[in-house]
Amino acid sequence: MFDATSYEAELQAIQDAGLYKRERVLTTSQSAHIATEVGGKSLNFCANNYLGLADDPQIVQAAHEALDRWGFGMSSVRFICGTQTPHRQLEQALADYVGQEDAILFSSCYDANGGIFEVLLNADDAVISDELNHASLIDGIRLCKAARFRYKNADMSDLRTQLQAAKDGGAKRMLVVTDGVFSMDGSFAPLDQICDLAEEFGAMVMVDDSHATGFVGPQGRGTPAKFGVQDRVDVISSTLGKALGGASGGFVAARKQVVDLARQRARTYLFSNAVAPTVVAGSAKALELALGAEDARERLVQNAKLFRELMEEAGFDLLPGEHPITAVMFPGDDGAVLATKIADAMLERGVYVIAFSFPVVPRGKARIRVQLSAGHSLDDVRACVQAFIEARDQVRAELES
Ligand SMILES: *Cc1c(COP(=O)(O)O)cnc(C)c1O
Repeated sequence: MFDATSYEAELQAIQDAGLYKRERVLTTSQSAHIATEVGGKSLNFCANNYLGLADDPQIVQAAHEALDRWGFGMSSVRFICGTQTPHRQLEQALADYVGQEDAILFSSCYDANGGIFEVLLNADDAVISDELNHASLIDGIRLCKAARFRYKNADMSDLRTQLQAAKDGGAKRMLVVTDGVFSMDGSFAPLDQICDLAEEFGAMVMVDDSHATGFVGPQGRGTPAKFGVQDRVDVISSTLGKALGGASGGFVAARKQVVDLARQRARTYLFSNAVAPTVVAGSAKALELALGAEDARERLVQNAKLFRELMEEAGFDLLPGEHPITAVMFPGDDGAVLATKIADAMLERGVYVIAFSFPVVPRGKARIRVQLSAGHSLDDVRACVQAFIEARDQVRAELES
């Protein structure tokens, strides 16, 4: 029997805790300039549209052509009859881009991370994971039988302690896993030091580079390239849903043996449909554009730099860094309320940003996460800062009266 009241109680509890997520509905395509049902025309500062490719005409055209040439759906998993020429071409292009031997596509990076740990590790092994790693890594790790160790965020002395503990526990294979960029802070994992430590202990290294592929490092090849450790990272997972066109799909790139084994064993690959032809073709075009997107990457850097400068000048409290994810902090007990009210007041001014509070970030560390894009102009960035200042002043006045 369906018991509506018990579900309603759960929903009410979420609302009472102030954690209920309301989805704002866009009435346009995804872009730096959008419109929403409630806010009208807005500047968008909360998409992962780092290179501004989400509505790029060349990508749209490539997807159109694929629709005509390759059809709409695959109606199959890859190993039955769901592999077309473009799937293999995209996999090879992705592998080349991130500096690995081969790659395997998944429906999402969530699924890539959900399936890969069971392939890489068994009960004799250990996984050593950064405490701030993305939920999909945490869930993927739960699905494998390896012993689990967790180290404090980017803390190399704790990583050493945990590697030692894994080794003392008799682990056969060890895998250190980290986000390349931590999505709530915009900070980088120190991959050079991580690789040094892993090497010392004979461990493998895996990087989830979702917030980097396409725009971090030389030619946007990611954090391993930025830190000069491309040939020392063993496994990379990443998404097609952010900088690379932002549609959907994810991948794991690694040595041939890992990719081959993943095609045999990764359950999220074996039992889930092939990526649709339009998405494959659009993503392939996005990858091609990303390779040559020096101008867009430079704009992105300049936008992030200007935003940081102006916000600090205006007295806002930013987490330090250089990534286009910029965390504007509202610390303390009333920070969550303040951040939410300011984000709402900004949308009224036509600037769309999102406030994050516990449990997405630690208690007392509420923030508005701003994401710059190459699609923004310098004037867009200035308008965003201006909206921050006005919204802060308005909310402060409201709270004082
Ligand atoms: C966004 C993200 C994912 C999920 O990617 P999808 O392709 O949307 O499933 C996984 N890992 C990290 C670090 C991410 O930022």
